[in-house]
Amino acid sequence: MNAVVPIRNASAGGCTEAPVLKERGQREVFCGLTGIIWLHRKIQDAFFLVVGSRTCAHLIQSAAGVMIFAEPRFATAIIDERDLAGLADANTELDRVVTRLLERRPEIKLLFLVGSCPSEVIKLDLSRAASRLSATFSPKVRVLNYSGSGIETTFTQGEDACLASMVPVLPKAGADAPADLLIVGCLADVVEDQFARLFKKLGMDKVRFFPPRQANELPVIGPNTRFLLAQPFLADTARALEARGAQRVASPFPLGVEGTSQWLWAAAAIFNVAKNHFDEVTEPARLRASAAVARQRTQLAGKRVFFFPDSQLEVPLARFLSRELGMELVEVGTPYLHRQHLAEELALLPEGTFLSEGQHVENQLDRCRAARPDIVVCGLGLANPLESEGLTTKWAIELVFTPIQGYDQAADLAELFSRPLVRRLKLAA
Ligand code: SF4
Repeated sequence: MNAVVPIRNASAGGCTEAPVLKERGQREVFCGLTGIIWLHRKIQDAFFLVVGSRTCAHLIQSAAGVMIFAEPRFATAIIDERDLAGLADANTELDRVVTRLLERRPEIKLLFLVGSCPSEVIKLDLSRAASRLSATFSPKVRVLNYSGSGIETTFTQGEDACLASMVPVLPKAGADAPADLLIVGCLADVVEDQFARLFKKLGMDKVRFFPPRQANELPVIGPNTRFLLAQPFLADTARALEARGAQRVASPFPLGVEGTSQWLWAAAAIFNVAKNHFDEVTEPARLRASAAVARQRTQLAGKRVFFFPDSQLEVPLARFLSRELGMELVEVGTPYLHRQHLAEELALLPEGTFLSEGQHVENQLDRCRAARPDIVVCGLGLANPLESEGLTTKWAIELVFTPIQGYDQAADLAELFSRPLVRRLKLAA
């Protein structure tokens, strides 16, 4: 690995112009409510009230309940079947639930009403309910709403919808405000702290993270704000920030040594950090990470990986696995291929990579079975059946729950792929 960060032009080739197989059919994905699991850990004085059915309550309890060590910061207000005439009652009921909750939990500063997909919930106007409740409880508590519905969405869109709902309430910076940088997307606190230290060493002191850890630390944004996406699934949030005048910094995502270097450099270059200073500051972490990733490469090089569409992290992950670990990409499926946000990633993928967008699960299972890859990245619903057919799998959702961004996590990310392969080898021995 070079000691300096190579800079690459997004229009330079790879899969920039590659054809994409577009599929529409049955899908096997979680809904956006899943995002509450990591969002509630990030914004520490927020509460997520799902307005949904018993199914939503079960999902939230079983997926997130096991991770609770203190009093939970999410719950479900169950809306039973009602006709339109019953909607007034539903609003009264919602007001009652929220009032009781806020009386009991005075530490809550930001309350999200999270919509879901049952028809009785769709009929409720949650944005109006949020405005009404915000007027009642402000300035102590702000109430916002977004949808975590599973209709035609995938689970990481819950975070996108949540962050997009916060953008309109971000304070406004004037045209004469100094240039600043906003890192957008939930990162584990440990990762955020590492990046904050690196930006500081680079001399960049106007860097903020969104979402903030505390609801009253909302970043100010304006025409001099540049934002750098930390996650590839934030299309609506990016659009909302652009509508407020902020400008996106184009970059690959901070997965692996190469992705992290290019992501940091994309920001540093805009803030006039000298390249040799950048290389000096990042070198210790970069070299340490490269050595750790090289150890994982011995397990993974030449192994064939197949991605089912799930987390929207597939393209950056495929780039990392192929370029830094020598893995062969059989198929890279992603729920949505945002060509603009992924331009730098696509340019780095090996030419000829099979890309697919959307899902027709039966067709894709046929392709996967025919290819017999060494490892399959997929949702929980597909993992067990594929394991029973002798295929090794990695749960896509684990990649969202685990800190994987940045130099210090690059080898851990590689290990998430090598571990199931090693386990399979041991079982076969
Ligand atoms: S939002 Fe829809 S998909 Fe998600 S748990 Fe509720 S009913 Fe199921």
